[in-house]
Amino acid sequence: MIYINVLNKCDNTVCNNLEYDLRALLKAFYPSEEIINKPQQTAFMNAELVCDDLTVYFSLKSQEKTLISRQFCVSDDLKDKFDNMLYEALSGLCGRELPWGMLTGIRPTKIVYSLIEKGMSDEQSAAYLTEHYKVSRRKALLAVSIANKEKMILDKIDYKDGYSLYIGIPFCPTTCLYCSFTSYPIALFKKKTDMYLDCLIKELQYVSKRFNGKHPDTVYIGGGTPTTLEANQLDRLLTEIENNFDVSEVLEFTVEAGRPDSVDAEKFEVLRKHGIDRISINPQTMNQKTLDLIGRKHTVDDVCRAFSLARSAGFGNINMDIIVGLPGETKEDVCYTLERIKEMKPDSLTVHSLALKRAAKLNIKKDDYSGYAIENTDEIISMTMDYAKDMGLFPYYMYRQKNMAGNFENVGYSKEGKEGIYNILIMEEKQTITAVGAGASTKLVFPYNGRIERVENVKDVNTYMERIDDMIERKRVGFDMLFERGNFDAG
Ligand code: SF4
Repeated sequence: MIYINVLNKCDNTVCNNLEYDLRALLKAFYPSEEIINKPQQTAFMNAELVCDDLTVYFSLKSQEKTLISRQFCVSDDLKDKFDNMLYEALSGLCGRELPWGMLTGIRPTKIVYSLIEKGMSDEQSAAYLTEHYKVSRRKALLAVSIANKEKMILDKIDYKDGYSLYIGIPFCPTTCLYCSFTSYPIALFKKKTDMYLDCLIKELQYVSKRFNGKHPDTVYIGGGTPTTLEANQLDRLLTEIENNFDVSEVLEFTVEAGRPDSVDAEKFEVLRKHGIDRISINPQTMNQKTLDLIGRKHTVDDVCRAFSLARSAGFGNINMDIIVGLPGETKEDVCYTLERIKEMKPDSLTVHSLALKRAAKLNIKKDDYSGYAIENTDEIISMTMDYAKDMGLFPYYMYRQKNMAGNFENVGYSKEGKEGIYNILIMEEKQTITAVGAGASTKLVFPYNGRIERVENVKDVNTYMERIDDMIERKRVGFDMLFERGNFDAG
């Protein structure tokens, strides 16, 4: 347990940022320690951060021994000074470095992307990450190679008249142990899915009216698991999209078919009929014991069957997701998963490091799973990279989350030309993504200055349906801002 006491007497945002970094770095060095806000005698570490009269006081104690006691003036480089001091102290105490150094909330590729745009060479960008943020050389080179790939792909995007469209279907066959998305078991909502579609279509029609004259570059139907809808419902939704949007110039149209127990030949036929070119079939693991533990009520054979059914239906761009660090999985288990995936030859592979999210069952009921080790090491991550390379897949996007096992990263690998463009767009925040459905979050990007505004829909499905007109009104306010003279087109 680590006790943190933050007192922001002048309500300064700098202090709030320092608190974020303090929590993130402590969690990165001590992943299994809970961070609490109430003093506890059992806390093995106590941190105090006080901001008063533009002076920041910080102390870190362990068992009454003072590890750090420093005072700073609020200044432009305070965050850097503070993070440096904390990183050095914690790294010295733990006797290890972190693969991503002091980088906490920032997306590494976003930093490199902007360095490349400013004209820095690859070597200079990598050196910046290692020197400024203490990122390991290997991770710095990974970030640089991915940022270059992203840039090459995003250079094709029409920022002037294009946007992206996300459609959320928040239903799944069952809820996975680690899930933190907006997702409800389909069995409980079977009778309401048509009503949900009615609302979704109403929202889509509003978006289409407001974006008249523009065209979607990418369309992504995610969730949840969209293929929990019946074939005729998928047909209805896709027909509405075609009727309301100019999809003639869409660069990529993805439907997540993540759970193999949600698909069949008829649904695949509907997707193909509507020109869907990219789907995702996500095993997460090919070890049956883990699938059973994490609450995915399907078998390993179901994954293989779904994959070959999709290939027979004509899908030429199939992604597979796996998670490293699932409870009880060893390096050998991950190796087995990769071997089985290699046999299927997907077009892209996304390797996630398990992130322990607050709302996930795995976190809420963590005592029930305390007997299962969560293991993620440099060796396992390197093995996933080697397998991807062996399958002819190259890293093209990456992101990091809070509380990731081993403090590593999520990396998307793909064959040349099969990269998930939407995935890059969502990470790099360079284009407006307008999102419909329960829990969907629209990201408005103002091209002339890069400002970002979010418009959130409520997460609860019933509330979403009851308040669909409010959701549309929220969008109206956001779109009015975006379309104010020059705001959309100036990029
Ligand atoms: S498939 Fe994805 S969205 Fe559905 S329950 Fe599992 S983690 Fe959540």
